[in-house]
Amino acid sequence: MMSKENGNPVARGVPGAHGEGSEPGSKPRKSHVRGSGDFVFDMRPLGKRPGEFRDERRTALAPDGLGSGLVLVPSGADVALDLRFEAVSEGVLVTGSALAPLSGECARCLDPLTTETEVGIQELYRYLPDPGEDEADGEERFLDGDHLDLEPAFRDAVVLALPLSPLCSEDCPGLCAECGAKLADVGPDHGHGGKVDPRWGPLAQLDIHDRVED
Ligand SMILES: [Zn+2]
Ligand SMILES: [Zn+2]
Repeated sequence: MMSKENGNPVARGVPGAHGEGSEPGSKPRKSHVRGSGDFVFDMRPLGKRPGEFRDERRTALAPDGLGSGLVLVPSGADVALDLRFEAVSEGVLVTGSALAPLSGECARCLDPLTTETEVGIQELYRYLPDPGEDEADGEERFLDGDHLDLEPAFRDAVVLALPLSPLCSEDCPGLCAECGAKLADVGPDHGHGGKVDPRWGPLAQLDIHDRVED
């Protein structure tokens, strides 16, 4: 008879967890996750003892449809997450930041622009209410079993942070109200009417509206 004494069970740890990882104050671990679960974090290494915390940095792919109007987070762009998960009696408190690229167009001159936004995140994810307990009001966030899906909180934070009037530069002079020329290109002396630059003299004789129709 083979006595397969299995005193050394296969490690069933979470990938990347090295035992010492759940100590408070341990160094942030880097992880790089691709795919649909980019914003989903496993809370098992954290445990449920209030006061325990884990830091995690992760690069996640931006979800679709984040942004509106003049500026958006490009779908699939890298979002840098720098988070702390802390066990509290009601659930898990997430604090940290997310840095996301933005692309859009300048609200004044309509040139394409790229920039980035860094949003702060502070959210309490509660354990699911016990059956029979009052269903919580809609504002609350809940853990899904052992998992925490940060995406809804990330979306809300980004939408609030999107600039209403993104600018290619703080002092973008915009477009000429008369002819639509980009003032940054044509220079501060650009104008119409009384003070026509001599070089534009001949053009000033033309019917400007016809020119614009072309
Ligand atoms: Zn501009
Ligand atoms: Zn003009």
